[in-house]
Amino acid sequence: MVYLDNAATTKPSSECLKIYNEINAERYFNPSASYSISFNLFKEINDIRCNFIKYLNGNATADKFIFTSGATESNNIAIFGSCLNKQKKYLFSMGEHPSVYNCACELKNKGYIVEFIPLQNNGQIDYEKFESMCDENVCFVSTMLVNNETGAVNDLKRIRTIIDKKTRNCVFHVDAVQGFGKIKFSVSEAKVSLCSISSHKICGIKGIGGLYISQNTKIKNVNFGGGQEFGYRSGTVNAAAIFSFNESAKIAFNYIDESLKKVTELKKYLVEKLSKINNLRIVSNNICSPYIVSIVLEGNRGETVMRYLDSKGIYVSTGSACSSSKIGNRILEAMGYNKKQVMGAIRVSFNKDNIFEDIDLLIENLNQYIKEINT
Ligand code: PMP
Repeated sequence: MVYLDNAATTKPSSECLKIYNEINAERYFNPSASYSISFNLFKEINDIRCNFIKYLNGNATADKFIFTSGATESNNIAIFGSCLNKQKKYLFSMGEHPSVYNCACELKNKGYIVEFIPLQNNGQIDYEKFESMCDENVCFVSTMLVNNETGAVNDLKRIRTIIDKKTRNCVFHVDAVQGFGKIKFSVSEAKVSLCSISSHKICGIKGIGGLYISQNTKIKNVNFGGGQEFGYRSGTVNAAAIFSFNESAKIAFNYIDESLKKVTELKKYLVEKLSKINNLRIVSNNICSPYIVSIVLEGNRGETVMRYLDSKGIYVSTGSACSSSKIGNRILEAMGYNKKQVMGAIRVSFNKDNIFEDIDLLIENLNQYIKEINT
């Protein structure tokens, strides 16, 4: 099997599965209970919160980090917990993942003033248009770090500078799911208020993620219950998943440079080979994370190419797995690709365990597909 869909999810490491099982088997108690074994677990979970704040380059003594069921929930808490005033303006990048974009649409339906920041054709937000949209009425901005379909990396510091120039007390939310543990960034440098991350994109288990909340950011809870996670996310704390996520993050950060170097070589190798194929456009450029390579096979349906590769045991995607049922592609269209080109979109996404032979097999089969449809 050649698995090249790591932006959709990654294979959990044996280390994180081991810890998950150990905690579930041996330390299954409720971390919020009052006896000592629970209290010790609770204290260790608090230490893990600090680890995550440090990974994000936040202030571990003042900022908060809460655990959620994944980035979809983190994004919902960040957005619905912040967007409370119908007189204010809320800006969202056009490139956002559905777990942000659909929250923005829901706010709009509810009568909030919501505007979408256009993208440049390199996939980043259009900074100039953003600056012209930003005024003193803007109280919330959401832009992702790395786009999940194209790999385009937004310049968070530049975005924060524009926000600070134009408005005050503005919450800056960043969905960093595709960047966390993969490329280096700092919530402090860009003065990020809220930052969403997920475990299953960094060789961790599914169903656990987190939300960073900077010390000056006030959000309201959107669900109600026992008041766990500082009241922002009620529900029995999933200690096993938290310990497991911690292990995945530890491994990702220990090897962040090594992994980046490896996937950069893989991307270079892939791009070289792809550039020899006729009528194929490489969407992902130099500003993109090397973990994601998006292409357009003009005159083809990405869906058909994906199925062909699937039949050969090669797994790629036609875009975000979370929106694969949707017709068209909002993000590529926002970058200026036409409807026909968008139909031929395919995404290849790596992790450090991919090898050059995976790419050879992908290219061999892509060429075979093209030969077969042309005969
Ligand atoms: N944001 C981005 C950019 C993503 O790629 C994903 C996963 N596809 C999510 C949010 C949702 O993450 P989760 O699966 O943890 O809910």
